[in-house]
Amino acid sequence: MVAEVPKTCRAAPVVDLGPNYKLVCREDYPVPEPKEGELLCELKVTGICQSDHHFVCGDWRIAPAPGVDCTGHEGAGYVAKVGPGVKGWKVGDRVGITPVAKTCHECEYCKGGFETLCLKIEYIAVHTNGTYTQYPIVDASWAIHLPENIAPFMCSGGTAYTAVKATECKPGDYVCVFGAGGGVGHMVVQFAKALGYKVIGLDVGDKSAVALGAGAEHYIDVTKHEDLTAEVAKLTPLELGAHAAIVAAGSGKAYAAAPTVLRPRGIVVAVGLPALGTAVLGGEPAVACFKGIRFRGILVTTRPDMEEAMKFLAEGKVKEHVTVLPFAEFPEALARCANSTAKGRQVIDFNK
Ligand SMILES: [Zn+2]
Ligand SMILES: [Zn+2]
Repeated sequence: MVAEVPKTCRAAPVVDLGPNYKLVCREDYPVPEPKEGELLCELKVTGICQSDHHFVCGDWRIAPAPGVDCTGHEGAGYVAKVGPGVKGWKVGDRVGITPVAKTCHECEYCKGGFETLCLKIEYIAVHTNGTYTQYPIVDASWAIHLPENIAPFMCSGGTAYTAVKATECKPGDYVCVFGAGGGVGHMVVQFAKALGYKVIGLDVGDKSAVALGAGAEHYIDVTKHEDLTAEVAKLTPLELGAHAAIVAAGSGKAYAAAPTVLRPRGIVVAVGLPALGTAVLGGEPAVACFKGIRFRGILVTTRPDMEEAMKFLAEGKVKEHVTVLPFAEFPEALARCANSTAKGRQVIDFNK
């Protein structure tokens, strides 16, 4: 439950945005006041995502709005204060924060079921402070009612579910997951398995325990195989390759390999966002023409997908592989995401 709201709180803001950025653990970060339509949240935990690293080191060349110095885009906690005009929320409600801060609810994309492509979209950590502060503000329309036992799940779980749906696969189809041992990837594996697909997990180094534990039938350490096309073919019927490849890794090599492991009419789903200029989604037009390979990108997740995804979690069909770390370990945790040595999802507990 939420006690009295303090004036300052724990946070790990970024200083020196860019390649030499630093996270500084502070005990005296100001707690903001919610405005019209907003909630002030008291987070118990925040997820640490590789995207946090890409964003603050400037890989995507997106500058945060003035005053925004806390990154992080998935958190779970309680409502600490309700802003004017907010309906359906009260102090003490469990709340989850997603990567989206706000959408207009009116444009053709919002109304057409593609709200993460809203023409006026605002993002957590870009337009408003993210979940690396214990007391972030969230627009009430994008706050997620969260069951008691669910860890932060909004980026890793919701995104994973949307990605798996985007493959248009049928039960029994083969899906390659690049980055299968990572925070988003291990959730992609689980949702794919829950929907009845056969999963081939790929990642850098020995992450087989996470990938196989999440439900992959096979694990390929990409550092140990020169010819991924042949490796995947061997594992699929008629050696034709997989029906879909989901790239949850932010890596140019993964994007280059993805279309080559597919059978005709296969589909590549882009999820992981590498630094600008370091990867290509696609390849030779001949790949798309002769093999009918399709390419698709997804951006985080919509609120309806999030609700569906949470049902899988509530029913125990998927489970987060979470490592809970104390507040002081913010910098090290993000560094592990940056160099791809994190296994599964790392979560910071603000009260530890
Ligand atoms: Zn993320
Ligand atoms: Zn809109």
